Amino acid sequence: MKQSKSLSLGYADLHTHSFHSDGRDAPAQIVQRAKDSGLAGLALTDHDTYEGIEEAGSKAEQLGLRFIPGVELSTVCEEREVHVLGYFPDGPSREFLEMIERMSVKRVGRMKRMIEKLNQLGCPIEEQEVFSRTEGEIVGRAHLFRAIRDTFSGEFDERADKWLNIGGEAFEPTSDMTPSEAIEWIRNSGGAAVLAHPGTSGIDHLIQGLIEHGLMGIEAVYPKHGSMQVRRYKKLAVDNGLIITGGSDWHGIFPGSSVFHSGSLGAGKVPVETIDMLIDAVKDLRNKKEGL
Ligand SMILES: [Zn+2]
Ligand SMILES: [Zn+2]
Repeated sequence: MKQSKSLSLGYADLHTHSFHSDGRDAPAQIVQRAKDSGLAGLALTDHDTYEGIEEAGSKAEQLGLRFIPGVELSTVCEEREVHVLGYFPDGPSREFLEMIERMSVKRVGRMKRMIEKLNQLGCPIEEQEVFSRTEGEIVGRAHLFRAIRDTFSGEFDERADKWLNIGGEAFEPTSDMTPSEAIEWIRNSGGAAVLAHPGTSGIDHLIQGLIEHGLMGIEAVYPKHGSMQVRRYKKLAVDNGLIITGGSDWHGIFPGSSVFHSGSLGAGKVPVETIDMLIDAVKDLRNKKEGL
């Protein structure tokens, strides 16, 4: 082992996407980038897929980086899109993997409906332009935005942004799962449920209810959160005995734009010990269940 076990002074980025969902990098590439930028730990949290975990995990082991597998689920609540991260120290249950597989299939139909709506609105984007941009099983709005940008060289960018935003004329939700249901799924499948970037969802008034539903952490540290938000979400976590997490939501660098919709790798980092806190939280949960 090249690195000593005492990595206690390092930082971890607990929110990243590979090309298995809507990111650009291969899982191993993200791990390499993390290592190069001096991070001590990392989580891969692709949307609705566990596909890149093995590759990222073994690369992390090879480079002496702490790694925790994760998945990001999209949910809806009060007509807002709320993202919930699930961290699975020992991998999720078979039922969970089957559930996200169903989600990824549903995404295809959802995308086709959004494209149809866009066509009706006067944006003649074709299915093939969008689906040719996916490298994994997952198709999402990010692929659609990129296809529109590249095909029409900016002509529709602003309008597409409005149409495809939550509640926009061409928007279709990814799933009808609620955040509470996602938390339940994650808890029952051997994971720790963390509320992703609450500052972008605008559901602060619902957080208390989610905590009662078994939320274990809040992603307070996030590039799009202002310093007041970071402070507020950290306090909310501490006051409720939850874990403060953080991540950059790294999607990679795409041609034509510097960084897609989030921060550069490590822009939202937390002490690497956070990984141990997540592992312990899952262990506690398991012990409680077994004790029942
Ligand atoms: Zn998200
Ligand atoms: Zn994300």
